[in-house]
Amino acid sequence: MSLSDKIFDAAIIGGGVVGCAVVFELSRQGYTCILLERAQNIMSEASAGNSGMLHTGFDAPLHSLEQHCIKTSQKTVFDIINKFNIPYRKCGATLVAWTEEENKKLPDLRQQSHEADIHDVNLMSLTDLHKSEPYLRKEAVGALNIPGECVIDSYLLGLSYAHQARMLGSKICTSCEVFGMSHGTLITSLGPVHCKMTINCAGLYGDIVDQLAGIDTFRIYPRKGQYCVFGKNASPLLKSIIFPVPTEKSKGIALFNSVYDNVMMGPTAQDSIELSRPASDPKVHWMLTQKAQWLIPDLATFLPVGHYVGVRPATQLKDYQIRTYPHKRWITVGGIRSTGVSGSLGIAQYVCERLQSDIGLEPERGATNHLLDMAWSFGEDKTSVTLNGYHYPILHPMVLYGQDSMMTSKL
Ligand SMILES: Cc1cc2nc3c(=O)[nH]c(=O)nc-3n(C[C@H](O)[C@H](O)[C@H](O)COP(=O)(O)OP(=O)(O)OC[C@H]3O[C@@H](n4cnc5c(N)ncnc54)[C@H](O)[C@@H]3O)c2cc1C
Repeated sequence: MSLSDKIFDAAIIGGGVVGCAVVFELSRQGYTCILLERAQNIMSEASAGNSGMLHTGFDAPLHSLEQHCIKTSQKTVFDIINKFNIPYRKCGATLVAWTEEENKKLPDLRQQSHEADIHDVNLMSLTDLHKSEPYLRKEAVGALNIPGECVIDSYLLGLSYAHQARMLGSKICTSCEVFGMSHGTLITSLGPVHCKMTINCAGLYGDIVDQLAGIDTFRIYPRKGQYCVFGKNASPLLKSIIFPVPTEKSKGIALFNSVYDNVMMGPTAQDSIELSRPASDPKVHWMLTQKAQWLIPDLATFLPVGHYVGVRPATQLKDYQIRTYPHKRWITVGGIRSTGVSGSLGIAQYVCERLQSDIGLEPERGATNHLLDMAWSFGEDKTSVTLNGYHYPILHPMVLYGQDSMMTSKL
């Protein structure tokens, strides 16, 4: 059957974690969808270079759409990741102040999260801090504890969203670039696609894809994030995610154990002009190594085993850019820069609500609560994963490093 033989309820442009969550949620609600991904594989761009954290939203801007989506996600995401069998660990986070000036910001951060109804954020005594993180440098002056923060295999989560959508009857097309729109029909490299609604989840290309529909409301300003990765044998040196006190521009560089137990330092936040993932910068790698060893002095006897870079689809605006254009039958889901994993289910539910309330599009089928159990296994070559019989290459370096238990960092 050619793509043009059917009229889909919704065409989703972009197979990153956001597009995959949207196609999953819409399929679950009974919409007949098609996901169109330009690359050879889904989850291959911004979503293949993240930290793999599932945030609670404690530090997201108050009353922002970002905070709303993360909080909505938190209500259902654990049911889904348990059903999907996704590796995750509720390791909690410790936000550490190293100067008196930073320390003064902690009560406000706590207050801000309480105002957002996220109450599990507590000031810690230094005694408790050193008890819970005994290897941490001793010069801290204050800390906040956020027990709900998690690490997760965000790559497997994205693949599972898309896989479930496929099992629910939606179509996932890769190597399919959308490069035009004419009278509601998408012009793609695999031919025309007819749909009642288009949802732009094109990440770093969100502004360019919006222009296909004559929409011009934001610009993507790529923001590079680099990581330094240590071997698993260093993982007993820390328990929680160690965050610095955030600045206006970013959450700052964290030190944490990935869900596969590699100690990771990152991500940096460097403005960039490149949309594709640039190579790691050796000077930044050195800085990250030093910073990790400053935070945990015992890490000085370990060497990094690797590095990688991700690029966030930031815009000139701070919040998520989710907008509906009923007359164009178009929804833009843009600027999901650094919390797209954590907000993914909330974003997808928000899109679903907009589809019904702003566009009035009802699903062809009834909604289903029946999700397939997911059985996945890593290939022997450790570079691929099989999900219910389908093979996917592993494109996320965090997962690849995690599969290589031979890499140890000890000097
Ligand atoms: C360094 C870094 C750290 C992060 N850490 C975290 C974290 O710890 N926790 C968290 O919750 N989030 C995190 N994120 C954010 C999360 O990964 C992002 O929100 C997410 O990657 C953006 O996802 P996306 O699906 O919007 O974009 P992408 O993953 O880039 O997906 C967009 C897709 O659209 C496709 N596309 C573009 N144009 C077209 C076209 N014309 N036709 C067809 N397809 C097209 C692209 O090929 C791409 O695959 C991080 C991101 C980065 C970069």
